[in-house]
Amino acid sequence: MRIKDKVSLIVGGTSGIGLATARIFSQEGAKVVIVGRDPDKGHAAIKEIVGRHGDVIFVESDASRTEDAQRAVTQTVDAYGRIDVLFNNAGIVMIRSLTDMTEDEWDTMMAVNVKSVFLMSKYAIPLMEKTGGGSIINTASILGLAGAEDYAAYSASKAAIIVLTKTMALECVPKNIRVNCISPGSVKTNMLDWEMDFFSRKRGKPQDLVFDEHAKKTPIGRDGTPDEIAPLVLYLASDESSFVTGSNFVIDGGRLASFDSPRVSV
Ligand code: NAD
Repeated sequence: MRIKDKVSLIVGGTSGIGLATARIFSQEGAKVVIVGRDPDKGHAAIKEIVGRHGDVIFVESDASRTEDAQRAVTQTVDAYGRIDVLFNNAGIVMIRSLTDMTEDEWDTMMAVNVKSVFLMSKYAIPLMEKTGGGSIINTASILGLAGAEDYAAYSASKAAIIVLTKTMALECVPKNIRVNCISPGSVKTNMLDWEMDFFSRKRGKPQDLVFDEHAKKTPIGRDGTPDEIAPLVLYLASDESSFVTGSNFVIDGGRLASFDSPRVSV
């Protein structure tokens, strides 16, 4: 077991990449705390994971709010006495040109995608340090490395996470906490479904066709799955990555590799 007994807080863990990570962490022996806003989804996730292996609880929390972030950390320590791994993975997407975007929409994007990383880390780090350190993994995106039409706020939020990760890594070296981030390309989750549905309506094309055209933009010829992302998170959480900190890991089926790739936008 690669992370046996490591207490792992997974923010945005009730679906997609977070849920796949909760599953693999649990298989590999971790004590998992799923943090999310929706208790129904949270309890469904727990039921599924407990049914198969292990030790998992759900904490209802909006990670972009101070009191909620504090509560998630406190409840984890109350339940398991420590935090070894923090996966900051909560995220939302909006597709809007800069000029059409309202100030409230911009603020919401930054609050969920960036402030949640700040708040969860701010409250978790002192406790992680007290019990000997650990590993923090943040979820950015290839859209934090390249621009895309109508994704200004999302791209800015993900670019912020990449640089925030580097600074956190430097500040956390003396605390024995490693900090890294992952930058996925297109992955089949609720978020991608929502984007494809948006473009299908906007272009008046069937959703299947939009999905197909989109998948072809990834050199590997398809979108990724959450189960293809979770093992990277597992590696960064485990002691196998003991010399890795301050890094950003692109995992995108080659999307950013080629000069000739179509634009990153869908
Ligand atoms: P998803 O919609 O299934 O997961 C996002 C999760 O974040 C959900 O469980 C949602 O409930 C949770 N969340 C949103 N706001 C929250 C809040 N305020 N507090 C707590 N939880 C909150 O989609 P996903 O693709 O699995 O997204 C996971 C992460 O991966 C996100 O950060 C997303 O930006 C990033 N990402 C996704 C893709 C992709 O193609 N799917 C690509 C690059 C990066």
